[in-house]
Amino acid sequence: MKPVIVVHGGAGRVPEEDEEERWEGCRRAALAGWRRLLQGGSALDAVEEAVAFLEDHPLFNAGRGSVLNVAGEVEMDASLMDGKQFQAGAVGAVRNIRNPIRLARRVFEDGKHILLVAEGAERFARDSGMTGCSAEELVTERQRARWEAMKDTNLGTVGAVAVDGTGGVAAATSTGGLHRKRPGRVGDSALIGAGTYADGLWGAASVTGDGEAIMRVVLAKTAVDLLTGDRHPQDAARLAVAVLGERGQGEGGIILVDCKGRVGHAHNAPFMSCAFMDETSGAPLLLR
Ligand code: ASP
Repeated sequence: MKPVIVVHGGAGRVPEEDEEERWEGCRRAALAGWRRLLQGGSALDAVEEAVAFLEDHPLFNAGRGSVLNVAGEVEMDASLMDGKQFQAGAVGAVRNIRNPIRLARRVFEDGKHILLVAEGAERFARDSGMTGCSAEELVTERQRARWEAMKDTNLGTVGAVAVDGTGGVAAATSTGGLHRKRPGRVGDSALIGAGTYADGLWGAASVTGDGEAIMRVVLAKTAVDLLTGDRHPQDAARLAVAVLGERGQGEGGIILVDCKGRVGHAHNAPFMSCAFMDETSGAPLLLR
């Protein structure tokens, strides 16, 4: 099986002057995930690595650089799923965590539950030896200014899907959620089936966009289900986005891989940055 990784930096409305840097961030994240695959990492290791890279990048709405809720605080959601093990880990409404996707991985490895939220998740982070960070560390000047200006455009989420050399598939998603959301709001990115899904029989999906609409149509699972009958991931991605638009009345985007290593991506938002890498590409390719 030939490994492949696809990364997205969120679908939404972003300032035009940021677009190039977003493409470049996705390119570098795909490379980070790809390196993990080359070192013998699993698809799950690779998607975790790519998403953690984008969480550390201040331009993306995940980890540092997350949007602020109505109270001016960062609260983040993240989830990941491994198709072969058919197992998942997720966190919702967490604060003071530099890389929520790594916390989701710890929930996964712990194996007792799938989703931990808020203080319980933060306590689990401490108990499992994860060092936290200050609330300020996650807040960039740019996001503080947007919050003060009451701008309400959505900036997306970050995510990755991958296939490893053994044919294993995985997906991961991480976000600061919606700008000026209510404290305690948990969105699709924390929910297995909505923002993230992987099934070892078919493929894996990571989703971004209007969370409430995505939850109503359970978009990531809907997209993976559309892979049955050997449908190409590109067709499945387009159909899934049509479901989001028509039935969900929402805007967003999706990246998808199937177990054969074929790739799909689609969005109905004004902008979405994606990058992809496999052996034949030699370097990350932008999926424009
Ligand atoms: N889906 C994310 C959420 O609703 C936001 C986004 O992807 O733009 O939290």
